[in-house]
Amino acid sequence: MTAEYHLQAPTLRFEFDGPLPVEARVTVIEDGVSFAADAVTFDRPLTVFSLLVRPDRVRVDARYPVVSRLGEGWMIHVPSLLGQAGPHLSDVTIEPGPGWILIPGPGSEPLNGFVYVGPDRPGSSGGTKAISDPALPDWLVADSQAALDSSAAFYAAGLNIVPPGEPVLFVGALPEEDRRIYVGDVTPNGVINLQFATHMLPPERDRRFIDLVVPFVAHETFHVWQGDRYREVDGVNGRWLTEGGAEYFSLLAQSAVSPAAADRSREVLAQRLGRCLSRMDAQTGGLVNLAESEAEATRYDCGTVSQWLADLQMSGSGGLFALWRHLLTLPDGYGVEDFRSSLSEHPAQGATGQAALLDGAADIRRAVIAALSSLGVDVEIADPGPWSWANAALWPLLQSNCSGMRGIAGDNGRFTLDTGDRCGPLSGDMEAVAIAGHRFDTAGAAAFHAVEVACSSQDEVAVNLLDGETARTVSVSCDQPSPPPELAYRIVAVPD
Ligand SMILES: [Zn+2]
Repeated sequence: MTAEYHLQAPTLRFEFDGPLPVEARVTVIEDGVSFAADAVTFDRPLTVFSLLVRPDRVRVDARYPVVSRLGEGWMIHVPSLLGQAGPHLSDVTIEPGPGWILIPGPGSEPLNGFVYVGPDRPGSSGGTKAISDPALPDWLVADSQAALDSSAAFYAAGLNIVPPGEPVLFVGALPEEDRRIYVGDVTPNGVINLQFATHMLPPERDRRFIDLVVPFVAHETFHVWQGDRYREVDGVNGRWLTEGGAEYFSLLAQSAVSPAAADRSREVLAQRLGRCLSRMDAQTGGLVNLAESEAEATRYDCGTVSQWLADLQMSGSGGLFALWRHLLTLPDGYGVEDFRSSLSEHPAQGATGQAALLDGAADIRRAVIAALSSLGVDVEIADPGPWSWANAALWPLLQSNCSGMRGIAGDNGRFTLDTGDRCGPLSGDMEAVAIAGHRFDTAGAAAFHAVEVACSSQDEVAVNLLDGETARTVSVSCDQPSPPPELAYRIVAVPD
């Protein structure tokens, strides 16, 4: 793709608004022009120059690729190509080649984010505009679009705010170098961009995979309503509000679909509660006081818990939809203070739990559970499941015996060790079945307790392995601490 720049006055240096990703493959066309990640420089004052931008392969640090493939066309991140002193978005025009079309975003600044330039594709006009990579299976694109349409309708009705224009959905293929299964984001122009690893997709439509994809799409769709209205004043200590909002509304949208989906949402909510509280056990400061790495690690789980509490607190006054309708219609955008002040206008039980989570408390876990209970939610401590027990049992043994890389791969209740020749008696990449005869699938807690005893007395424990079809038992020492799995919860009752 060629980008042609017309500057208002002759200049020797053109600075980009931010440095381009190191992977951006930009070539200068004219003589006497040189390119660096943050600027283009000229050996004589110029008003017109061109850059040839070729597609990126990998995204790094959440920075957007400037140009990447999307189907038979291209996905362009327009803001990356803009300069500090101009051109501004309002000055940019994009001329698609003959027979090609431009699909901008639906938002008020249609070029402020990803746009598509390429051949028109059947089905890309009317309703949601979906542009997809032909390498992706039709069912995945269709299910993603259906999830977008149904969650968008749910949010529009609940918030009573119409979405900015018809949704635009890009469904692309992740480059093979990327190790994730899917990623997604929404740029400020309202384009929802989902990318999937084609080589990791199930061979055909798979219910379990769809159960993961639908909430993911619904989460991204809520970001369309949030747009770029989050005020950055709160920085990393406020993003839980944006992410927790998207996550909690995604769960609400699922719950509205079917009773089975509502059960799944409740399980996810319980998981997030358990993970959030386990993280916060190590903290006395709350979400607004965390160090950056902790803020990132707790954003989704604790953000969701905060939104859940707020929804319950506001249940007599329109719930979380009313709260977000208020936040999203504030003239200067929204932030944590607006969230807090609109909650304080509706005093309710549970406020102490919300305050403990946000500002900190001596025992955040206890405060949050007590708040949930006062708001009519009954949770009980649940078995964390075979995967958590097996992890808690096997990790201290791997840590005690491995000298290099180590890992556990869990698939369908089988736990395969990634040990190579690096882990003493546990070497050989075998499947771990049980500890001291306690099988992970039926007696995970007992397996963990056997390890706990061995580790606390610096003793050995018998690990039952499967080497192909052959059972082996090895004696394994432990000299590491053996923390139990995170406390898991089950939601027993919620208010009507
Ligand atoms: Zn998000």
